[in-house]
Amino acid sequence: MNSTYRLYILPVLVALLLLIALYLDLLPRSNTVQSDTRLAMGTLVTISVWGVPQVKAEQAMQKAFMHIARLEEVLAWQRPSSEVRKINQDSRGTWLPVSEELAKLVELGLRVTELSHGAFSVGLQPLTALWGFSSDQPRSEPPPPAMIAAWLAAYPALQAVQLRKNHDGAYQIKLQNDSVGLDLGAVGKGYAIDQAIAVLQQEGVMNAIINAGGDLRVIGSKGAQPWRIGLQNPREPEHIVSQSLLRGNVAMMTSGDYERYFIFEGKRYHHILDPVTGYPAQSGLSSVSVQGQNASLINGLSTALFVLGAKEGMPLLAAVPGSEALLIDLDGQRVQSKGFVVDWLQQ
Ligand code: ADP
Ligand code: MG
Repeated sequence: MNSTYRLYILPVLVALLLLIALYLDLLPRSNTVQSDTRLAMGTLVTISVWGVPQVKAEQAMQKAFMHIARLEEVLAWQRPSSEVRKINQDSRGTWLPVSEELAKLVELGLRVTELSHGAFSVGLQPLTALWGFSSDQPRSEPPPPAMIAAWLAAYPALQAVQLRKNHDGAYQIKLQNDSVGLDLGAVGKGYAIDQAIAVLQQEGVMNAIINAGGDLRVIGSKGAQPWRIGLQNPREPEHIVSQSLLRGNVAMMTSGDYERYFIFEGKRYHHILDPVTGYPAQSGLSSVSVQGQNASLINGLSTALFVLGAKEGMPLLAAVPGSEALLIDLDGQRVQSKGFVVDWLQQ
């Protein structure tokens, strides 16, 4: 054998064996958690995975983050090129084609609208824009009451957003009038988390957590340990009040009056709006966390429960099998359903 050839064959052989090992999943499994944190969906998103070789973990997390970024391009009404933005510009009063992905999410939103008898709506964009909580220059006082009254008078409530599927399977959407616009802020984050988990699973990751600023979903475990997550104190968000040890397939989404708000004349105005009044929901709650299997659905459910309050909200859980909730009221009192997984910490 010629000597130059022999010089190359060893490294090539090693690389080949490594590739085969990687492919067959024969490399030693990492017993440490590998994480990556990036800014996405207006918050810090951390993906942690356990039990896969480093190269594979990095590749899977990268793909999951790319998927989240792509979804943001479709779903955020603030993005100039998003599909939602296009629909908000063109589909008032007329039926327009809509991608299956967006249609499925709107469908899920409409299910929560129905369950909550309109306390939740994916058609509130003109109202959320008026309040401006997600704008670059947030308000420091409420919008003029006359503007809210004008919106209320025009808003078609349960008929706001309509979706239909044609014989050929294609979806179409119609926004009833100018007071309606799509805002998927209350389901989009959960949907992105669900989709990113699916990407991780396709990449062979079976143990992971995706945490988007406290909204999260876990699969599997951290080896012998469950995933451990904290819940913020609504009045001291830098402190946690409880921890939940989660394993298997569980999502937990939280809606709170402390995430985006301003205080005007001693009163707190926050970003969860009541479509019946046009004002931030005043149901006596400061925080609602919902646990369940599907992050998209329970994301919507947590917002709906926040608007409805404990008495009217808790019965909604019965309609979503496996969902559990924890409510914290304005005095810090807690109400929780039986199966909510939580350990309270000493204050
Ligand atoms: P966060 O996004 O802060 O985690 P939520 O998941 O509860 O909080 O979603 C709040 C977002 O949902 C708001 O920023 C707004 O875009 C939208 N929203 C506010 N009120 C409602 C409502 N009644 N129904 C549906 N969406 C709402
Ligand atoms: Mg939320």
